Amino acid sequence: MSFEVVIGLEIHVQLLTRSKMFCACAVRFGAPPNTLTCPVCLGLPGSLPVLNHSAVTLGLRTALALGCTVRPVSRFHRKNYYYPDLPKNYQITQYQYKVHPPLATDGVLALDPDGGRPVRIRRVHLEEDTGRLVHQEQGGRVVASLIDYNRSGVPLMEIVTEPDLRSPVDARRFLSRLRAVLQTIAVSSGRLEEGTLRCDANVSLRAAAGELGIRTEVKNMNSLRSVEHALSFEADRQARLLASGERVVQETRHWDERRGVTFASRFKEEAHDYRYFPEPDLLPIAIEAGVLDAARAAMPELPDAKRRRYMERFGLSAYDAEQVTSSGSMAAFFEDVVALHPKPKVVSNWLTGDITAFLNAAGQEIDDLRITPAHVAELLGLIDEGTISGRTAKEVLAEMLTGGERAETVVRRRGLRQISDAAELTAAVDEVIAAHPGPVADFRAGKQQALTFLVGQVMRRTQGRANPEVVHRLLRERLSS
Ligand code: ADP
Ligand code: MG
Ligand code: ZN
Repeated sequence: MSFEVVIGLEIHVQLLTRSKMFCACAVRFGAPPNTLTCPVCLGLPGSLPVLNHSAVTLGLRTALALGCTVRPVSRFHRKNYYYPDLPKNYQITQYQYKVHPPLATDGVLALDPDGGRPVRIRRVHLEEDTGRLVHQEQGGRVVASLIDYNRSGVPLMEIVTEPDLRSPVDARRFLSRLRAVLQTIAVSSGRLEEGTLRCDANVSLRAAAGELGIRTEVKNMNSLRSVEHALSFEADRQARLLASGERVVQETRHWDERRGVTFASRFKEEAHDYRYFPEPDLLPIAIEAGVLDAARAAMPELPDAKRRRYMERFGLSAYDAEQVTSSGSMAAFFEDVVALHPKPKVVSNWLTGDITAFLNAAGQEIDDLRITPAHVAELLGLIDEGTISGRTAKEVLAEMLTGGERAETVVRRRGLRQISDAAELTAAVDEVIAAHPGPVADFRAGKQQALTFLVGQVMRRTQGRANPEVVHRLLRERLSS
């Protein structure tokens, strides 16, 4: 029996605001525990929330970028439950009541850059984050749980898709494209590894085009790669259950990255379990027309438009343009290098080639690089000047990426400067001619490949530092006289 995979995503995005959602505490990472708190975000009696204006601005910008309908009036609700990381015993969030819709609804983000394979966005809403529990272990047992309320009340935006995705690969692709949008419009740093972007993935199977099947919700994926892996595992698990006549249970499951499996963590609660009701301490959000116009006017160029511009203006291939615009910071890095070294295709090749390979292997993002666009531009300049060959440049770049040094420094320290001076190369050329009478005779008899062999020998003698063009010329001169 064959099944169709159906996936819908709920994505939580930490917003790039300076202060929290309902108080003036700073949003900052790595501060000592419980130093960024006040009566509001600690849920002390008598404290009252005040809405963060820029969180709403970022929410609106996202809504517009995703083609959503912004609701003229939306409001907050209380989602009630007890957990130690939630000191108020309720989370202030937005809920989809017909009368009180969330900030924005009914958007779309396509899987293909030309608008093909649209994925519908059900809603975009604002809410607050919880505190963070830190479990202390001894000998594999939890001996104490500590709470850090620095994250309590940090602004979050939730983006929910319709169940329009049809494979784990598509889910990963969607998330990557959404992240590029969020980074480009400066709404979020969008880092799954650090939890500033979190994805809960709902997945079910159905017999082709039938009714939707029972879903499970998978949490705890910390990279794009693990979103794809977790969903593949989960779809296979459900397929095995259904094939053997068993049923899928609607539940929340956690992804275990190390073991590569999902495991059940709790039964899925229903909305009515949370006893949602309108938050009485906050006024509704009413969006005036002028606010939306201003948000539209301030909208930066979105990734798909950027991709088209890179193809038209810089002559990049569709594939390269997509790679370079795959994250907001990659595109910014690309443009910064091109500003210093105006050869876009060359810059794109190095970015999507060696640099991306390094990032993937290190599990890093371009912001983590120890080198700047100026470092890369200088390296490319050295190739153009003939100071180093393209081959050597790869070696130099590898060292720059790990050590953060300038290209010039690496070239000097390792003695990698290319030898273009004919006088310096003559000795090596003569030695090679003397050592290989066979190929020399072949070349004189008209065999061009013999020359390639001889050039290779000179390169070997100079540890790859000889300028191949100069070597070619010298060999021809010597062998034709
Ligand atoms: P809840 O908020 O209780 O998790 P929602 O109905 O809001 O439930 O759905 C959450 C997510 O689950 C949405 O992204 C939606 O697209 C997805 N979803 C709903 N039903 C299914 C299903 N049968 N299979 C896969 N995804 C689903
Ligand atoms: Mg859910
Ligand atoms: Zn506070």
